[in-house]
Amino acid sequence: MTRLAYLWDEGKCVACMACVLACTGNYPELARLEEPNPMRRWLASNIRVVIREVGKPTLRLVSCQHCENPPCVHACPTGASHIDRRTGLVELDYSKCIGCKACIVACPYGARWLNPLNQLPMKCPGPVCMELVERGEKPMCVQVCPANARDFGDIDDPSSSISVKLAKYKTERMLEHMGTQPKWFIIPRRGS
Ligand code: SF4
Ligand code: SF4
Repeated sequence: MTRLAYLWDEGKCVACMACVLACTGNYPELARLEEPNPMRRWLASNIRVVIREVGKPTLRLVSCQHCENPPCVHACPTGASHIDRRTGLVELDYSKCIGCKACIVACPYGARWLNPLNQLPMKCPGPVCMELVERGEKPMCVQVCPANARDFGDIDDPSSSISVKLAKYKTERMLEHMGTQPKWFIIPRRGS
């Protein structure tokens, strides 16, 4: 079985936001939306930047955690939100989506957002990244990271680069206590 997952190395991340910007490449139609005030120009990205205020403030880059027990899938009344059995990723079949937004409400990570053009939910991976993944390549956020802080791959393949890192480093996952079983691993900053 294939279970594709994401990894982020906090200690390597230089907070350049290249991944956040690269993700907007999934949505050129939204990037062209006109907003006269440059301060309010909207970044159409699946990656949210969150400052975690526990102890010393730390940065978290939050996108879909590809939960193995996904609240969004459980909440979806039509089966549009589903786990793709080929990849293990949580995906959205827009042909089945009725735009009820139950998945947006159900996600404890705030990983889904509303497309202002069609009022449908959006999430990682976007369409461009999905094509890359189908070709066996890594998503754009991983490819553009200049610090090699991100990785993506099959955690059921012990030889994949992500599996090697998971075996080597202690990792944590966000909101693990909720039982969502996220497939988005963080290597905490060493010494933190
Ligand atoms: Fe669903 Fe949110 Fe989990 Fe992604 S992070 S699988 S959108 S519940
Ligand atoms: Fe399912 Fe679409 Fe409703 Fe989300 S908005 S719960 S994907 S039908």
